[in-house]
Amino acid sequence: MSLKDYIGKLTRLRTGRSGPHERPHKPAFLLAIMSMVETGRMDGNRITYDPDLYALFKKYFEAVQAEDDTVNMRDPFWRLSTDGLIEHSPNAGFEGVVDAVTSPPALKKWRELSSHSSLPPDFYHLLQDPDARGRLRQAVIERYFASQAAEIEHIVREEQGIGAYERVLEEMSETSDPTPSAPADDIRSQAFRRVVLRAYDYRCAACGLRVILDDLVLADAAHLIPFATSHDDDPRNGMALCKNHHWAMDRYLIAPTTGLAWRISRCLDDRIEGQKDLIDLNGRSVILPKQPRYHPKAESLQWREQKLAPA
Ligand SMILES: [Zn+2]
Repeated sequence: MSLKDYIGKLTRLRTGRSGPHERPHKPAFLLAIMSMVETGRMDGNRITYDPDLYALFKKYFEAVQAEDDTVNMRDPFWRLSTDGLIEHSPNAGFEGVVDAVTSPPALKKWRELSSHSSLPPDFYHLLQDPDARGRLRQAVIERYFASQAAEIEHIVREEQGIGAYERVLEEMSETSDPTPSAPADDIRSQAFRRVVLRAYDYRCAACGLRVILDDLVLADAAHLIPFATSHDDDPRNGMALCKNHHWAMDRYLIAPTTGLAWRISRCLDDRIEGQKDLIDLNGRSVILPKQPRYHPKAESLQWREQKLAPA
C-alpha cells in the first residue's frame, strides 16, 4: 500500500465515540508509535507492551483527552489490528486464536497469546522515511487534534531531544569518550532514566524486584557518582534500584563494589530489629544488565565503596 493509502487508513480509524466526541486513544497511540520509530526506540519492527511506550502514549493522550476520556493503552494497541495497522504475532499454540480475540485481553492473557506485535511491513517502511512520517503524523493531527496541534508538536520536539540524548548515552557505553555537553536538565534526566532502566530491564540491582504497572516502574535510575559531582550520565555510571535500595545507597549505607558484590556500612547493626534485610545484602552479587556494555564502570564502583558510611 502507498503513502496515500495509509493516510486514508489513518484518517478513517474506527474510533470509539461518546456522543459527537471521538475517543482519542487510537490516534494518540499512533503518534506514540511514530515517536518510537523516529527516536530509534523500536527494536526493529517489534512493539511490546512496555512502560516506555505506555509513558509516551500517556503523554500524547493527556495533551488531547476530553474530561471523560480515561487513559488505557490496551484498547488502541489491541484494536488497531481491526484497522489493519497492527499485527499481533501469536505465540506457539495460539495461531488462529489471536485473530478471534476482538476485545483487548487482560495483560496476563495477552502475554500468553502473543509476545509482541508489529506494524504492517509497508507501513513500518514508510515510517522510516522522515518525509513520509511527517505527512502521516500531520494527517493524524489535522484529522483528530487540529485544535491541540501546538501541544502535540511540543511533545514531538521534546521526544526528539530526549531520544537524541538517549542515543548519545547508549553510544557512550561502547566507547570511552568523555561526557558530551548535556542538554537541559529535564531532557537529560529523562534520557538517563530510560537508558538505565531498559539496560537493567527495570529490575533492582540489589534485590531483584521488578514491578511494572502500565507506565509506573518500581525501580529508579540512580547515578553511582552523583551527577552534581561527576556530570556523568554514562549508563555505566548508573544503576536501577528499588526505592529502598536507592535510598540506602544515597545515604552510603550500601554500596556496590569493584568486585561486583554489595557491601554494607558497619553502622548497620544486626542487633537492631528491622535492619536485617539490608544486612543480608552483604556479599551478594550485583544483579547486572544482560549486555556487558552497560555493566557499571570501575571508577564509579570505587567511589561508592570508598564512601560507605563508617561505623
Ligand atoms: Zn531493591
